[in-house]
Amino acid sequence: TVRQSPEFEGFARIFGIETEYGVSVTGAGRPVDAGQVAMMMFQPIVSRSRSTNTYLTNGSRLYLDVGSHPEYATAEARRPLDALAQDMAGELMMRRLAAQAQERLQATYGTGLRVHVFKNNADSAGHSFGCHENYLVRRFVSLEQVEHELLPFLITRQLYTGAGRVTDEGFEITQRADYLDEAVSSATTRSRPMVNTRDEPHADPEEFRRLHVIIGDSNRSQWATWMKLAVTHLVLCVIEESARLGVPSGFETFALAAPGEANRAVSRDLTCRNASLRMADGRELTALDIQRGFLRIVERFVAGHAAAMDAAMNGTRTDAVASRDGIGRVLDEWRRTLDLLDAGESGRLADRVDWAAKLRLFETLHARRGGVAQSKLEQLDMDYHDIANGTLYDALLRRGAMMRLLDDGDARRALTEPPADTRAALRGGFVAAALVAGAQFSCDWTRLTLSSPEHREAVILDPFADEPTADYRQLMQAL
Ligand code: ATP
Ligand code: MG
Ligand code: MG
Repeated sequence: TVRQSPEFEGFARIFGIETEYGVSVTGAGRPVDAGQVAMMMFQPIVSRSRSTNTYLTNGSRLYLDVGSHPEYATAEARRPLDALAQDMAGELMMRRLAAQAQERLQATYGTGLRVHVFKNNADSAGHSFGCHENYLVRRFVSLEQVEHELLPFLITRQLYTGAGRVTDEGFEITQRADYLDEAVSSATTRSRPMVNTRDEPHADPEEFRRLHVIIGDSNRSQWATWMKLAVTHLVLCVIEESARLGVPSGFETFALAAPGEANRAVSRDLTCRNASLRMADGRELTALDIQRGFLRIVERFVAGHAAAMDAAMNGTRTDAVASRDGIGRVLDEWRRTLDLLDAGESGRLADRVDWAAKLRLFETLHARRGGVAQSKLEQLDMDYHDIANGTLYDALLRRGAMMRLLDDGDARRALTEPPADTRAALRGGFVAAALVAGAQFSCDWTRLTLSSPEHREAVILDPFADEPTADYRQLMQAL
């Protein structure tokens, strides 16, 4: 059972990223409804699975709820770098669906039509949509701890995970600060909380929670996606271990007086050093002070637990990918990032921090042309996030101006290969076999169902499980 596995005792984590994409069309000569475009993108999915909600052979979920925001939720990964690969596979999938939809729409609207798919969090009309991070945490971590200890970290980490956004007033660090008010809540859409506590662990509810982080931006930078998972994981390790031992983590001293206000203040302070945030205990600290505080505590903690933490994350893996996720590397990046921001050198992070990359682009343009129109800035901002027809970000990558952790081959591979050491491997194997057999099937995160040729079901409650159970074997034999 789960309780006996080392995952329960140790620092093992499950990571998943859900990304909602924005859709629009240009060059059609007349307005085309975004919902219609999204439906067109999903036509191949619907004809394959008779639904706009499906699981892929890599174990991920691809779906379209009502509205016009296609979503890709990565399969469960044990390592941030594996989650990054799965997230990049999602971009690739969306890009392919967009290209097909574009071709079909061009038949009606002419060859000038372009389908745009934005990996960002706000459309031109001011609607906001999300990028959710999912972390498996042990049940004994209380929601109060999440609110008081994790939230100040999540709010201030935007200094290096923010995707940047052109606004009417200029430029700010995050995409969503204006849309998020309530700190912790159980409803995602109504009140736009920062951490969603709806109790759906997709695992044994006695042992685990699934922490559902709503506050983050969608990132184009590979480094940013990797770092937000990797650093948050380290902070969660400290919180879990202190909860297990019943001792304070040290993070409680960073509880904020007004999280929503702090979030907006961090987002608007491009110097990263000027905005002072009111703490629950009456002090005033900057976002950098708070990040440094978290870093200090994490460093101290890692010094005593590094071997166990590495072992929990990497299991038996000793390959290059495992070592590139090493804690030492994460800490080095984190420290260097804070040092550069502290020195007022955000420009030197322009190869890895999305908002800094954008800001550098805009400033360069401004200097070269002696001014850039607001509408042009807004257009460039959108282009940076357009994974279907955008040119800016790809040009940066090609020039080596944006850091790569993984290459296109890794992303292509992750489109068909699930993470090998979670239940995603079992799900992916099932989906692949069912498609080959032409069987009728459905999935959710914990359940695989075959409805024809015969009815069979396998429940995989343990997200760390990668070995076939008896049920799973029978399910596969029925195909
Ligand atoms: P919504 O889209 O309404 O927010 P949701 O958050 O419940 O729904 P999905 O969009 O289906 O869910 O995505 C779930 C994400 O959680 C996936 O990325 C998946 O890999 C991840 N996940 C699944 N099981 C676990 C788990 N036990 N712990 C942490 N993450 C998990
Ligand atoms: Mg979702
Ligand atoms: Mg979600």
